[in-house]
Amino acid sequence: ITEHNPKIGTEAKGQRLLDLLIASLMVVLTSPLLLIHGIYAVLTQGRILVSVETAENDHPARFASRLPTNELAALFSVLTGRYTFAAQSNDHTGRKGLFTARQLRERLGVTYLENPANNTGTWNLKSYLSLLSRSVLAMFVSPVKSMDAQDHFHIFGVRVHNASMKDAIDWMHEGLEKNLRTTVGFVNTDCLNKAYSDDDYHNTLNHLDRVYPDGTGVRMAVQMNGQGVADNVNGTDLFPMLCERLAGTRHSLFLLGARPGIAEATAKNMQQQYPGLKIAGTRDGYFSADEQQEVISQINGSGATVLLVALGAPRQENWIMQNQQALAPGLMMGVGGLFDFYSGRISRAPVWIREIGLEWVWRLIQEPRRMWQRYLVGNFLFMYRVWREKTRNGSVLRPSVMTPSSESDLLDYYEDLAQHSGMRIRMLQFKRQVWNLGRLTSQLIKRVIDALAAAILMLLLSPMLLLVMLVIRIESPGPVFYSQMRVGYKGRLFKLWKFRSMYIDADRRRAELEALNEMEGGVIFKMKHHPYRTHYQEIFYRRATPAVECIQG
Ligand code: UDP
Repeated sequence: ITEHNPKIGTEAKGQRLLDLLIASLMVVLTSPLLLIHGIYAVLTQGRILVSVETAENDHPARFASRLPTNELAALFSVLTGRYTFAAQSNDHTGRKGLFTARQLRERLGVTYLENPANNTGTWNLKSYLSLLSRSVLAMFVSPVKSMDAQDHFHIFGVRVHNASMKDAIDWMHEGLEKNLRTTVGFVNTDCLNKAYSDDDYHNTLNHLDRVYPDGTGVRMAVQMNGQGVADNVNGTDLFPMLCERLAGTRHSLFLLGARPGIAEATAKNMQQQYPGLKIAGTRDGYFSADEQQEVISQINGSGATVLLVALGAPRQENWIMQNQQALAPGLMMGVGGLFDFYSGRISRAPVWIREIGLEWVWRLIQEPRRMWQRYLVGNFLFMYRVWREKTRNGSVLRPSVMTPSSESDLLDYYEDLAQHSGMRIRMLQFKRQVWNLGRLTSQLIKRVIDALAAAILMLLLSPMLLLVMLVIRIESPGPVFYSQMRVGYKGRLFKLWKFRSMYIDADRRRAELEALNEMEGGVIFKMKHHPYRTHYQEIFYRRATPAVECIQG
């Protein structure tokens, strides 16, 4: 290479020098670890390194034994010159890269950003350093190179589809071809922060046919919980690919949302870029509730089969769900601020920033006043919530019909109930005892009052009582008192004492008079003029009867 192109030769020499420098430095820094690895490998396997170079399969050096930092052995492959730290693919120097551009995109789920045009650019020291630093950064952003990705996962109870960008577009196109009605949304950390406590939005997301994971935050959260994310399927990257797929087909798009003029500008740009793309209509996203019907008529009248709604989350998803039945397009999708990018109002982050999952930093720089809260507060809040869910419930990737915040309110309520129920029961028992004591005391007081009052009254009335006793004895022979069994408090029978007011055999004679009972039903016996009442009693009874009847009403 040096012979044919001295410039490339110098760059290659520089790259080799840097490789040696970095690798030596790392060997020194990690020497204790390397030593442990080496000793362990010799003791367990009888050799330090394994040669993995075969005709069809070539890997950097590995320690013969498997320990977590096994990959450090690759430093030796760099030192021997078989590998370089970073290469576009198998680079022009003939050496393979420990980090390649392809690997970087795979790690961040953005292989769709691969543009063959990028690879034709000249490889130089600058691109080597750029790829190396981006790859190291990406290791922090997405620590796991590849992980088993299931076809969906839940995060904060929101069901998210885990597909490649190509699969997502294939699915949309297939639905359109079959005239199906489908709804699509994308969730990034900001959306999930909103869905964390917004019941309506949470419910809407779980009723969309497809929700795709957008951004590094979601990726990190899913990886932290032991699963992989296939692709970073976000609306902004998907949009041009969908346009490309639909250009020249019978399908047409309606762009609803963003500030006045933005959707039109987007339509113009996309049609220029993808000849044959049909845009059936556009409308800005600042309409009132009164204009809603008119907006729906405009969309349906345009004949569009695809509707992109850019009203911001959660309004756009809720709007789609609320008007789904009235809207004619087959594919309806909430797309956030993407018209702002494709109209040119806001510039999008360069590919190299998107590749390392730091587009949000770019957006923050572009619109700091609008975005600082979303990113500087929101991203940390999101990661904190993920961590808390994991420590509380074992994983953030659990299905749930309610928002985590409603769920935690409910859990707190029951936890509180469980914690305090023993105390509450003891309080209730204590209250019951206090009440019982009160009842017993009042019964006792009542009894004392009864006995005292009766004794005092008997004492005060004793002259009259003695007179009555005398009158009874004079008028009719027999005892002064008459007793009967009566039913008392709580059904207890007791003996009731009265002055006798009838002749001694009145009870016996009553049977003869049963036919003359003036009370209906036969349980109580009553006659106004009782032939067996004693004389004085009869006089009293006649005087008293009108008053008694008056009281009875
Ligand atoms: N928007 C709208 N109508 C509204 C509020 C917002 O059309 O009542 C638009 C806004 O102009 C922007 C988009 O909705 O184009 C929301 O963009 P944002 O950057 O918040 O969304 P992201 O892509 O970050 O989810």
